[in-house]
Amino acid sequence: MSDDCLFCKIIRREIPAEIVAESEHALAFRDIMPQAPTHILVIPKAHEPNAVALAEADPEAMGELFRLVGKVVAEEGLKNGYRAVFNTGPDALQTVFHAHVHLLGGRVFDWPPG
Ligand code: 5GP
Ligand code: ZN
Repeated sequence: MSDDCLFCKIIRREIPAEIVAESEHALAFRDIMPQAPTHILVIPKAHEPNAVALAEADPEAMGELFRLVGKVVAEEGLKNGYRAVFNTGPDALQTVFHAHVHLLGGRVFDWPPG
């Protein structure tokens, strides 16, 4: 846990969020600025700066994170597909340095991404 991390504060319920699913080591909540009809952030409860750091520190936690993605995909009814994105580092415009996957769905996306 990091005292001044926004997502750690959401995990500790110090900042409100629309939480949609939770497991022992992961949390899923709606993005405050949705970029698609469904835009949910799925995060580990452990404070790691990005997905690779999480996979290296705790591979099982990474597996659990994606199992929670699967549960949310089913609950949100994303039968036609979805996009799962880790913005990592400045070139990818990462703004919160607590690992998180953007789960986006409910519309057709462009490729390549912008
Ligand atoms: P990043 O830019 O690091 O890939 O993603 C961070 C995401 O966190 C952004 O999509 C942004 O809208 C979202 N976000 C920032 N502050 C808050 C907040 O206070 N609550 C929620 N639910 N999402 C937030
Ligand atoms: Zn954190």
